[in-house]
Amino acid sequence: MNYSSRKKNKIVKYVVIHYTGMKSLTLAYQKLLSEKSFVSAHYLISRDGTIFNLLCPSYKAWHSGKSKWKKNNNINDYSIGIELENKGHEFGYSNFTNIQYLSLKRLINFIKKNFNILDENIIFHSDIAPNRKQDPGEKFFIKKIGINRFKFNKESEKKYSLYELLILYGFHKYYVKKYKKSCIRAVKRSLNYKIITSSQSKKFLKDFYNLLFC
Ligand SMILES: [Zn+2]
Repeated sequence: MNYSSRKKNKIVKYVVIHYTGMKSLTLAYQKLLSEKSFVSAHYLISRDGTIFNLLCPSYKAWHSGKSKWKKNNNINDYSIGIELENKGHEFGYSNFTNIQYLSLKRLINFIKKNFNILDENIIFHSDIAPNRKQDPGEKFFIKKIGINRFKFNKESEKKYSLYELLILYGFHKYYVKKYKKSCIRAVKRSLNYKIITSSQSKKFLKDFYNLLFC
């Protein structure tokens, strides 16, 4: 399989959640272990809840591709990648199973303890590469694994622009400037909207604000 050693100055601080986007578990498993695929991940969770540990997290897996988050580039350097079995938008996107959520919750709690990772750093592939990726997508409910990513305090007087909200969410400035519509779609997936468009309705701005502030 594909992997690299981690650089000493780049510590693990993120967990990136993906879906496999393949027609079957076997195909996904083979792809993640094949050298020819140029992709890999640390963990794979099947629809029946089995957790496959494919690579020791002390090594770097190749799951994020070209990616940016907050002020970091190349998120593989800083992250652990978890793939959830799901055919994805291309081959038949379905709900994640309850047992998959249960296994993911256990795995993430284990990783959080071992690597001291904050809830706000449990992120999606669609967040760190919004122009290219849509996984794990709008059918993934992060609340089901007990994670509350955003807990900003409300400042009653302050009005936030969409740009400010997108930066607070965590998008890298490059993406907000160059791919604003893709960023909006990524937020809508995070909000579990059923229909994903890049329109900026009043409802969306309100939902986005409520996602970030408690
Ligand atoms: Zn992915």
